Amino acid sequence: MRDMASTWTEKLLEVTSAFSRARTPREVGEVAVALGVGALGARSAVLSLLSRDAQHLDLVASAGLPLPQREKLARLALEARHPGSDAVREGRPVFLESARDVLSRYGGIVPDGWREGSCAGIPVLAGERAAGFLAFSFESYVPILPGPRDFVQALAALVAQALERARLLDAEQQARRRLKVLIDAAEAFSAPTLSMAAVLDAIVRKVTAATGDLCVLRLLSPDGAWLEPRAWFAVDPDLCRELSSAIEDDRLASSDGQAARFLRGGRTLLVPSVASMPQDGMPLALRELFGRYGIHTLIAAPLQIKGRCIGTLKVGRAQPQEPYGDEDRLLVEGLAARAASAIEKTRLYDEVVRSQRLFEGIADASPDVLYLLDVRRGRNVFVSRSVEQVVGRTQREIASLGEAFLETIIHPDDLHRLRGGERRFTELPDGEMVEHEYRVRHADESWRWVRSRDRIFSRTPSGAPELVLGVARDVTEQVLAAREREDLLASEQRARREAETASRAKDEFLAMLGHELRNPLSPMITALELMRMRGGDAYERERTIVERQVQHLVRLVDDLLDISRITRGKVELKRRPVELGEVVAAAIEMASPLLEARRHRLEADLPRRGLVVEGDPDRLGQVVANLLTNAAKYTEPGGIVSVRAAREGVEVVVRVRDSGIGIAAELLPRVFDLFVQGQRALDRSQGGLGLGLAIVKSMVELHGGSVSADSRGAGLGSEFTVRLPSFEAALTPAPLARSSMAFPARGRRQRVLVVDDNQDAADALVEALVGHGHAAMAAYDGPTGIEAARRQRPEVAFLDIGLPAMDGYELARRLRELLGPTVKLVALTGYGQDRDRALSRAAGFDDHLVKPVELEQIMSMLGQASPEVQATSP
Ligand code: ADP
Repeated sequence: MRDMASTWTEKLLEVTSAFSRARTPREVGEVAVALGVGALGARSAVLSLLSRDAQHLDLVASAGLPLPQREKLARLALEARHPGSDAVREGRPVFLESARDVLSRYGGIVPDGWREGSCAGIPVLAGERAAGFLAFSFESYVPILPGPRDFVQALAALVAQALERARLLDAEQQARRRLKVLIDAAEAFSAPTLSMAAVLDAIVRKVTAATGDLCVLRLLSPDGAWLEPRAWFAVDPDLCRELSSAIEDDRLASSDGQAARFLRGGRTLLVPSVASMPQDGMPLALRELFGRYGIHTLIAAPLQIKGRCIGTLKVGRAQPQEPYGDEDRLLVEGLAARAASAIEKTRLYDEVVRSQRLFEGIADASPDVLYLLDVRRGRNVFVSRSVEQVVGRTQREIASLGEAFLETIIHPDDLHRLRGGERRFTELPDGEMVEHEYRVRHADESWRWVRSRDRIFSRTPSGAPELVLGVARDVTEQVLAAREREDLLASEQRARREAETASRAKDEFLAMLGHELRNPLSPMITALELMRMRGGDAYERERTIVERQVQHLVRLVDDLLDISRITRGKVELKRRPVELGEVVAAAIEMASPLLEARRHRLEADLPRRGLVVEGDPDRLGQVVANLLTNAAKYTEPGGIVSVRAAREGVEVVVRVRDSGIGIAAELLPRVFDLFVQGQRALDRSQGGLGLGLAIVKSMVELHGGSVSADSRGAGLGSEFTVRLPSFEAALTPAPLARSSMAFPARGRRQRVLVVDDNQDAADALVEALVGHGHAAMAAYDGPTGIEAARRQRPEVAFLDIGLPAMDGYELARRLRELLGPTVKLVALTGYGQDRDRALSRAAGFDDHLVKPVELEQIMSMLGQASPEVQATSP
């Protein structure tokens, strides 16, 4: 017994050492059946292991078994009646040592001609669980003694151990293989490529190669509504082609089925057998396609980025004996994780590239130059294409200039402002712009003006400006245009200054001319007066001619002076309420010599009173006189001149009409302009300087009124209409200047001297003063005036300033000497400006009256004679 026992023990030792060399289940099986048969002297041996789905027992190794039986045992259902499967199910060995035992157990199934003898089925136990069986059969029915019984059981235990070792070994190898595949895949996915399509294609090919026969990759649509097929691959080119047409439009709604589960964070789906999948688990077309190509097992894994599902990865395999298991699931999940990160990286990269392209596209499309300036190195990191227009150099040429960029391109005078960029930008807050204008050198050597705006784009970790984003605009045209405008403005201002100077010189010249012409006129007039006084009738005709011409000359000179005053804005109106009837009457008187000379018939239609305007009677008189004079001048002798004055609404209107030559239509609109004159068919001696109507217009407008001219054409006469605002408050009745009717002297009787070279005026005033109860005398020049004063000792003297031989100022000084401080000296003059008043005061005048003086003024002045004077007078 001892010998026997030690023999079994030796055999076991032999088996054990043989197992140590077996690395796979098959090798383990082969060792077990070969050594088992040898040790037991059995006729045949079998090792079968439970299938993955635990429904079958698959043959792993056999010895001494004829082919038909081997085929029968290749896949034994777990439920089959067999010593091996029984042992697996029951979890304990089955020993059958007699024909009776066999028949009692397997009677129904023992085939005809059964020749076997004893047999044994021993479960191979992995822990509690049976993983397969070891079975032996013998030539004849012999009892299986305790020694062999123990041996086969020990052998089964050794098989279990060896299998476990092989499984661990296998698992480790698989894990290592998987790791290698994953490392490969990660490398393949992240190969440097720009396009998402290329990355997706690399993924499906690599995944197919690592896991089976096909791969389909779907990605979530941008709106999140669909899982869209984006890449697929199959080893079989026919399947690949068919897959393309089956899957191309097969997008899955995110809200449906497996897609929805994945998007809600679902785990990988492992389908060992497509056949056992529920009908609705897969689109029918795909199921049919997979069926035709024998794709019978699937894994679908979500593609996840930080727990968010961005798509799915599905793999399938055609080998029916290799359904996917957990091992494959792990591999697919690993691949999916790497695919997802590769996709995300590519997407981000794409986005960066796209936004960069967008920026460059926009930058290049803009006429402005956009640039990124590296502040610390003073060079551009990016310059848009439009730089070529501005500086005539390509982007590349600019880039190659590097740090020499500023010195090469910028005008030396502007350089100091742009150099030391860092300093320029240190103070600049983020988001704010700094603006510069400078010149850049174009490749054609011209200088172009550029205006740039810069803002901080990025900062170093310490917060110093790093990159500056800028826009530069070519403003050469604007700068040149602005210069041109400035030049134009300057030259225009110069021209205007020159014109103003010239015009002032002209005005001054006219004013001077007027006064200079006047100087010789005064003595001429005096001389004429003297000639008339002394000369009797001799040369009467010649004298009259000279007189008339001198009068004409005086008018011309007066007009000239008026115009120079008007253009210099020096006209001073002495405004007061005026009866226009009186003004017109005076004007008629002024014009009457000419009217008479030309034998015109004058028709006057005007109320003496009731037409009151506020104005300067002198100037208004001049207006009407000018119109009447023109009417007389431009009407053939013996014509009709009419003057009418009336109130029309709020206006007082004066119309001067003639039957003369009329005014041509083209002249009418300009007839009031300065120096404008019509054709002169008439005696040129009647002509003027083209000033009369200009004076009329200015004066009327100064009075707030308007004047217009009308003519029905050549030979049909003309009409001039003056409109003045009516002064509603009627004047209190006042005596007319020309009336010398008796007035009671207001106050006491005084001695009055009147000196005026205008004899009529002097005489008329004297007549009026006498009429008012004063003792008045007239003199017509200075020396005669002094003579008269000596005799009369006047209390009041009215002296004209513009006297011949000795002017009014001189006369006043002499009279003051002669008569002392008590005499009241009153200047009578056409000049009423402040300067004139100052002059008369300096000459010793007590008062200053501007012609024509109204009698009322004279009388009231006499009435106001000082009490001192009244007391001392006799
Ligand atoms: P002057 O009489 O010195 O030429 P005015 O300014 O008084 O200058 O008149 C301008 C021109 O208007 C005259 O030259 C003349 O042609 C025209 N004119 C003025 N008044 C009349 C008129 N009553 N009838 C025809 N033409 C006139």
